Amino acid sequence: MAEQFDVVVIGAGPAGYHAAIRAAQLGLKTACIDAALGKDGKPALGGTCLRVGCIPSKALLDSSRQYWNMGHIFDQHGISFNDAKIDVTKMVGRKDAIVKQFTGGIAQLFKANKVATYYGFGQLQAGNVVKVKQHDGSEVELKGTNVIIAAGSDSIELPFAKFDGKHIVDNVGALDFTEVPKRLAVIGAGVIGLELGSVWKRLGSDVTILEALPDFLAAADAEVAKVAAKEFKKQGLNILLNAKVSKTEIKGEEVIVSYTDAEGEKSLTVDKLLVAVGRRAASKGLLADGTGVQINERGQIVVDDHCHTGVDGVWAVGDCVRGPMLAHKGFEEGVAVAELIAGLPGHVNFDTIPWVIYTEPELAWVGKTEAQLKAEGIPYKAGSFPFAANGRAVAMVEPAGFVKVLAHAETDRVLGMHLVGANVSELVHEGVLTMEFSGSSDDLARICHAHPSLSEAVHDAAMAVTKRAIHKAN
Ligand code: FAD
Ligand code: NAD
Repeated sequence: MAEQFDVVVIGAGPAGYHAAIRAAQLGLKTACIDAALGKDGKPALGGTCLRVGCIPSKALLDSSRQYWNMGHIFDQHGISFNDAKIDVTKMVGRKDAIVKQFTGGIAQLFKANKVATYYGFGQLQAGNVVKVKQHDGSEVELKGTNVIIAAGSDSIELPFAKFDGKHIVDNVGALDFTEVPKRLAVIGAGVIGLELGSVWKRLGSDVTILEALPDFLAAADAEVAKVAAKEFKKQGLNILLNAKVSKTEIKGEEVIVSYTDAEGEKSLTVDKLLVAVGRRAASKGLLADGTGVQINERGQIVVDDHCHTGVDGVWAVGDCVRGPMLAHKGFEEGVAVAELIAGLPGHVNFDTIPWVIYTEPELAWVGKTEAQLKAEGIPYKAGSFPFAANGRAVAMVEPAGFVKVLAHAETDRVLGMHLVGANVSELVHEGVLTMEFSGSSDDLARICHAHPSLSEAVHDAAMAVTKRAIHKAN
């Protein structure tokens, strides 16, 4: 006999654990099932984000940035030292400890919120029953008045570059190299390729990124992408556009990568190959016959604007449904669905989801790009401000980049904010807040910003929309 719950959540990643905790907070009897194991072979909650995604990648980005700064920035501060060394085992160990702290934290939050936790693989059956195959081989059945599917995503594997976990890896392997590869190739100049490519480049690897498309970071504002490309080039990241990989071969301890670009056929020999060409919804084996839940050609669970699958009481959130594959998008959907189930007005505003790429400099944006506004025929005004004219940025030896505010030409409502520079992962939220409150560039321009601060660049960019920036010629 299946145990009855108000809410059964499949997956304890960002989308699932938010849904489960919020549902429990709202007084709903909640269970959450997760299949993942950590590096130690024990169950680890928190999904891709906490185990092998957002958090471990940022831990390594921060470690590698400290090391890079020693060799490239400290001297400008008048600081010198002898013989900087990197202990990769210690660096990865620090990352693992952070992962353990946060995955363990989810288990504690589940306990504190009385979320019943099941460790194993869940499969939805007809009638909102979830069959759980637990790690010890036993099976349990949970019946949910509501079931929230939050199964996440997996790396896409290329048929000609199969993962072997040692020479050809995805993010999981690239977060766990035991030494700095002398030569690293990356397929895909997307978010993972740039972030993890940067980590190993900063530590001394010779990194080549092969991107199939002719444009670099086509989703970003064109000026932001241009500044980023210039800075990455200065750092020695070798990014090849229009490079189509056709074959890879592991020979001994080396990987030979064959590709074609505008000049014809070429090959590259490296020690490690990271494949980062996107992720695919993890819907395999998730649904038994007869559930009525639809899966599209991309493997995503089909949902409406409210994350409802169309089957009574069955919802889906996070990477396994349409929309950007971002942890915070999953957070918002998880909370919104729990609130909708409890009869509250949950919603997610897709127009104000921020994007961040945690390279050096960081890239961040919210809302529409200039290209999108032009394509949609929306009249707009733009104001921008360079960090090279911001006192705090220059004092930090972080003069690269700028902030750009886009506002409607007639109403002045902010339609987008695009940033490249130091700490823009934090600054972008000025744009998010302004847009959420339907604010104008004038609203932003009239808000007092502390001096000296990087956020003054946002203030100046907003003032530049109406040509009244103080710290630059308009
Ligand atoms: P997931 O995090 O994938 O979690 C799904 C969970 O469900 C997993 O634990 C899985 O084991 C479990 N599961 C799946 N199927 C079943 C089943 N049938 N039964 C039981 N359990 C199941 N996003 C950002 O916003 N910022 C970042 O900085 C960022 N960095 C990233 C870096 C890397 C290297 C990667 C790979 C991703 C990064 N992301 C980042 C993306 C982010 O990790 C995902 O968008 C996010 O984790 C999606 O959350 P989710 O809950 O939908 O799915
Ligand atoms: P991505 O979609 O960001 O980039 C994939 C890149 O690979 C694209 O530029 C694509 O054109 C290219 N590509 C695809 N096939 C190719 C091929 N055969 N040869 C060469 N290039 C090819 O995907 P990703 O970097 O794998 O990241 C997956 C998801 O994880 C992203 O969508 C993102 O949402 C999420 N993520 C987010 C963050 C963050 O928020 N900072 C960090 C890492 C990952």
